[in-house]
Amino acid sequence: MTAIAHSAVSVHRARTLQDALDQLSQAPLQLLAGGTDIMVEANHGGLRGRHFLDISGLGSELGGHSWLPDGALRIGALCTYAQLQADARAQAELPMLMAASRLVGATQIQSRGTYAGNVENGSPAADAAPALLALDAVVELRSLAGTRTVPLAHYYTGYRSTARRSDELISALIVPKPDGGVSCQFFRKVGTRAFQAITKVGLSARIVWQGGQITDARIVATSMAATICRAHHIENALRGLSDIDAAAKSALRRAQDADLRPMDDVRSSADYRAEVFHRLVLQAASETRPS
Ligand SMILES: Cc1cc2nc3c(=O)[nH]c(=O)nc-3n(C[C@H](O)[C@H](O)[C@H](O)COP(=O)(O)OP(=O)(O)OC[C@H]3O[C@@H](n4cnc5c(N)ncnc54)[C@H](O)[C@@H]3O)c2cc1C
Repeated sequence: MTAIAHSAVSVHRARTLQDALDQLSQAPLQLLAGGTDIMVEANHGGLRGRHFLDISGLGSELGGHSWLPDGALRIGALCTYAQLQADARAQAELPMLMAASRLVGATQIQSRGTYAGNVENGSPAADAAPALLALDAVVELRSLAGTRTVPLAHYYTGYRSTARRSDELISALIVPKPDGGVSCQFFRKVGTRAFQAITKVGLSARIVWQGGQITDARIVATSMAATICRAHHIENALRGLSDIDAAAKSALRRAQDADLRPMDDVRSSADYRAEVFHRLVLQAASETRPS
């Protein structure tokens, strides 16, 4: 272990995964991967931790991604947006996750930032985490006690807080082969500009149409609550629909009001968020419908 200390901040470097797990078992250290969220916090005086464990050198154990025999994708903790975007199969099978990845910052951030960091950072305005949630991703956690998995749907326990224990790190994210193929995947981020924007309102959706009606739906809202979240009432209102007529639109809007109470904040008003999110749901239903 190497430690670099600056005033009240210390950074420990892990040499191996075992070394990282040993250190995490001994003291509460904040993990440092790409550092693209942590450095912003440091610049704004908002560091959540003071003692860091740098795992960025563990690429041989925590990096990369692989396709599992059942068609699931395993994204290693240090896999960056740029690395996954270079995979033709990910482009073909997971367009929602690729669309989200292309919109995270710019090339520099995509080359450095990791999916695991985006998930653990827990921002309600994150881009990759909601796409992963709509894909039913599972978080794999490692500690000296072993490996456990937590569905991303149960991972957030509140604003920027997660189910991870302080002796654990995210070792990977597992994305099951999505039901319904690629045509049912939809991702939209609404910000002040097309690129390099923080999400004001976002929707990641998977809407499966079969025999002219919606048979399944995953609706994930971004920047509409304290965490990214599934909108279960909207999902239920979508199931069984064959036409998005006026009655269906009203039912979807009522369902949205039951699911989500967006906030007024510096980026947007609650009314704007609610109206735009409703339109995104209608757009998702229409764009995923087979022609
Ligand atoms: C200019 C700029 C633009 C950005 N634009 C966007 C954007 O458009 N959309 C977006 O979603 N994000 C954006 N971000 C935020 C950031 O790039 C992403 O959230 C990124 O994925 C974070 O990954 P990282 O590896 O850099 O995380 P880090 O900064 O290293 O860590 C982030 C958090 O995750 C924890 N962590 C990291 N790895 C692990 C692990 N393996 N196990 C447990 N905890 C871990 C850290 O302790 C920390 O709390 C932007 C950042 C910058 C600086």
